[in-house]
Amino acid sequence: MKFSLVNGQRQEAEPKLSGLCPACGCQMTAKCGRVRVHHWAHKNQGQCDPWWEKESEWHRSWKDQFPSDWQEYIQHDNTGEKHIADVKTKAGWVIEFQHSVLNLDERRSRENFYQKLIWVVDGTKRKCDIEPFKNGMVYGQSPDPLSPNKCRTFFPKGNLLKNWSECSGHVFFDFGEEHPLWWVFPGSNETYAYIQSIPREKLIQSLQDRDVADLNSFDSLISDFEIFIKRCETDPELPRIQRLKEIQIATT
Ligand SMILES: [Zn+2]
Repeated sequence: MKFSLVNGQRQEAEPKLSGLCPACGCQMTAKCGRVRVHHWAHKNQGQCDPWWEKESEWHRSWKDQFPSDWQEYIQHDNTGEKHIADVKTKAGWVIEFQHSVLNLDERRSRENFYQKLIWVVDGTKRKCDIEPFKNGMVYGQSPDPLSPNKCRTFFPKGNLLKNWSECSGHVFFDFGEEHPLWWVFPGSNETYAYIQSIPREKLIQSLQDRDVADLNSFDSLISDFEIFIKRCETDPELPRIQRLKEIQIATT
């Protein structure tokens, strides 16, 4: 973890420091080696938050895009269950940065627990995931000139889309700094996935301290995406044009 309580204050790891875990109250030791990012570890390997994932540079650089008091937020529910969210924004969005592959049951239990959830998924974890994802996009060219960055793909292909398209949370694939993020809208499924590309800065800014009614807030970006989805689902011409395109691509 990035923070521990030292004399009652949240503090980052420094050599020889010890502290208490803000979630379970157990003793923690600062780990300040050369290989991994400086972090805190529980002194005794116990069960603190079973959902906690070992932090990488990738995790840390994402978390650091947000104010430190939004990071490692301890979320309780009314049954007494608690978990450490990577980030919780002022507007109530929990952001989880997912580097390792997550099984379906685990993913669903987090989605149930956190409700307003955003996943940022490390798309570079398996090199074999990027090409199938790009190929999947070819089938989803948007016929809507007003929304060139959005598309609906038919029968999502590739491991990433198959694994993540049925989420009830918003999913963002991160393929590295040189690429935009790819946003998969909740409610996508094995038949359709609604996807749009978004610059990472735009996502980060949309989640900063904004009024939800602000045109650049994340909630407004959702509304804008929903308009596109509604058009896809209600305009009988749009799916027909897309299907034609798919057939053309498949046969050329
Ligand atoms: Zn703990």
